[in-house]
Amino acid sequence: MKKRILTGDRPTGPLHLGHYVGTLANRVRLQDEYDVFLVIADYHALTRKAEKEHVVATRQFSRDLVLDYLAVGIDPEKTTIYVQSDVPSVCELHLLFSMLTTVPRLERVPTLKEVMADENLDIASYGLLGYPVLQAADILHVRAHLVPVGKDQESHVELTREIARRFNFLYGEVFPEPAALIGDVPTLPGTDGRAKMSKSLGNAIFLCDDAQMVEQKVRGMYTDPTRVRADIPANPEGNPVFAYHDAFNPDRAEVEDLKARYRQGKVGDVEVKKKLARALNAFLDPIRERRAYYAARPRLVDDILAAGAAKVRPISQATLDAARTAMGLGRSSK
Ligand code: ATP
Ligand code: MG
Repeated sequence: MKKRILTGDRPTGPLHLGHYVGTLANRVRLQDEYDVFLVIADYHALTRKAEKEHVVATRQFSRDLVLDYLAVGIDPEKTTIYVQSDVPSVCELHLLFSMLTTVPRLERVPTLKEVMADENLDIASYGLLGYPVLQAADILHVRAHLVPVGKDQESHVELTREIARRFNFLYGEVFPEPAALIGDVPTLPGTDGRAKMSKSLGNAIFLCDDAQMVEQKVRGMYTDPTRVRADIPANPEGNPVFAYHDAFNPDRAEVEDLKARYRQGKVGDVEVKKKLARALNAFLDPIRERRAYYAARPRLVDDILAAGAAKVRPISQATLDAARTAMGLGRSSK
């Protein structure tokens, strides 16, 4: 039997270049070798905002995520795509796991502080504090071995391993200890120079942005603020414009030439950015084309999500039954 992958995204907006290099590229690359499961984590989307408009908006974002997946080359014949709330047995597993994790352990998860700072939250809800436990249930209800994620999520996979270990120690071997697989670019910086491209920070280039929008965003990108004239030698390291060139410009000779001239003060930001916009648009063009192709088939997304949920439900239920039996609760009688 093939080993399994589980990973996913919150339906809170379109996918961006950071998602691509952090996790999407690995998902596409590994879909022949592994059984891949992609969860559209709508419950996770509620951990920060639970107002009704926000809940309702996740429906459309979920559909858009499916189009983004298809556009980057995820094949629904090989990869099972489902919406988290369509498979409620994961919540029961989350409840069981919540007994195996302490509050101080969850308070130490580094993303908690980051999310609270980014979203101006003073206190965490019970759901926000516990969302890495729900994520552990997402990963372990399909008994996944590998979790392709960006660097920011590594600590959640570590917690998942701890929960699996604790469960297996207390009740017997039910769960594998999954490993994180970090992308080629562990964390892609934002267009504003902040450490992470993020839809919540407004510093993202989306996979569905059109060519003009990409040019506009690249023109406005943060570069070295000390370099007020093009003839000032400067360091391309740590400059997000060059980080994007490294990640997306396949013309290595062009990138090396730009870096060399940048170091010597012989190239202006305008040229570096023009070439970046061109490279990004060349990368995004086939993604845009495929997206338009699939978007013209409106039933497709519904069919994919219905088939995905139907495939995951029995897998999830079997895991839950195994966990309950191991614990001595007995199988659920439904
Ligand atoms: P954002 O962080 O952009 O607001 P998000 O937090 O809603 O988006 P998640 O659903 O948490 O996105 O992340 C989906 C996946 O994409 C995760 O594996 C995460 O690590 C990865 N990821 C998100 N942003 C980046 C980035 N800038 N660089 C690398 N990987 C990223
Ligand atoms: Mg995130």
